[in-house]
Amino acid sequence: MNTVRKIKIIINNGDDEIRKSQYQFIRNAMYAQYQGLNRCMGYLMSGYYANNMDIKSQGFKDHQKTITNSLYIFNDIEFGKGIDSKSSITQKVKKDFSTALKNGLAKGERTVTNYKRSFPLMTRGRDLKFSYGDNDEILINWVNKIQFKAITGNSKNSIELEHTLHKIINGDYKVGQSSLTFNKKNELILILTIAIPEVKGDEYKPVANRTLGVDLGLAFPVYMALNDITYIRKSLGSYNEFAKQKLQYKARRERLYKQLDSVKGGKGRKDKLKALDQFKEKEKNFAKTYNHFLSKKIVLFAIKNQCEYINLEKIDSSGLENRVLGLWTYYDLQKDIEYKAKLAGIKVRYVKAAYTSQRCSRCGDIEKENRQEQSKFVCKKCGLDINADYNASINIAQSTEFIK
Ligand SMILES: [Zn+2]
Repeated sequence: MNTVRKIKIIINNGDDEIRKSQYQFIRNAMYAQYQGLNRCMGYLMSGYYANNMDIKSQGFKDHQKTITNSLYIFNDIEFGKGIDSKSSITQKVKKDFSTALKNGLAKGERTVTNYKRSFPLMTRGRDLKFSYGDNDEILINWVNKIQFKAITGNSKNSIELEHTLHKIINGDYKVGQSSLTFNKKNELILILTIAIPEVKGDEYKPVANRTLGVDLGLAFPVYMALNDITYIRKSLGSYNEFAKQKLQYKARRERLYKQLDSVKGGKGRKDKLKALDQFKEKEKNFAKTYNHFLSKKIVLFAIKNQCEYINLEKIDSSGLENRVLGLWTYYDLQKDIEYKAKLAGIKVRYVKAAYTSQRCSRCGDIEKENRQEQSKFVCKKCGLDINADYNASINIAQSTEFIK
């Protein structure tokens, strides 16, 4: 499966003059490619019309065969050294021509591509060599001794991006034909094509030490993430649906008590007591059903992601009142998870709750100020800016401070 990622990059060179000339090299190469593309398409089209638009004719086939890197139309264009633009151009033009045919070129419903000056500069995948620098930055060595540095940013997407680039450096993912372009802010963008191997089957074959961290939070009753592939995450339920339900129950319960106070005795009182009992049962069942729903989803998620362990937070009693789920339902939820995980062959571990909301899951920095507001985590040190529950769930997944 091929997937595309856009990555902001800069040329990694401390010398102003060299850096300037390297950016110019890219712009010149883009311009040369643009000339080559339009000339090549024009050349292909001339053969198409010369052979009466008959793509099956011998004349057209022979004409197509002449479209190679040594075609005369390329002779006076100065292509970027080492980029292999001519091969990219001829392939691209042939592909765009056949697309135009499919879309009605012969009928006159389409014209062929007119390439713009800003057309991204195509580059072979093997010319992009990824590695880590001395400070763990991601470097990309390209042609003509040009080195790029990836700017991955601080959003939740950057965690996924860093992970993807890590897989490329490890050799798990291969890089395909990619391209370079400038965005509206004149920043250099690498449009990276990555071949990701297909994962097949739903079989549970746990990856050693892979752990699912489960955080019980405010905005989401459950937020979970993996310890190793940290961009894999999922939230379950919402505060609103749970809180709304709880409020409704609370109001109903208070109403029932009030009614009970108004009747002194006899059959009336008996009926009211019965109604109250039935209601309490219903309330209990709601929590039960909700826990069942959550625990099932959690364990299924752990199976799907081949987790060997599920980590849960051990919460001390002083923290309990902050929990949406309340004391006994939270306890019940944990028991439900334990039960279902055991059936699936997944081990449940409890970890210390300290710092899980203050630690940065990317750089490990622990600071009280790191968490600015309930829903947001912003790291003072590295700038990571993600959902607070998401950050906590990664910390829980990565924690090794186990509690019996
Ligand atoms: Zn950080």
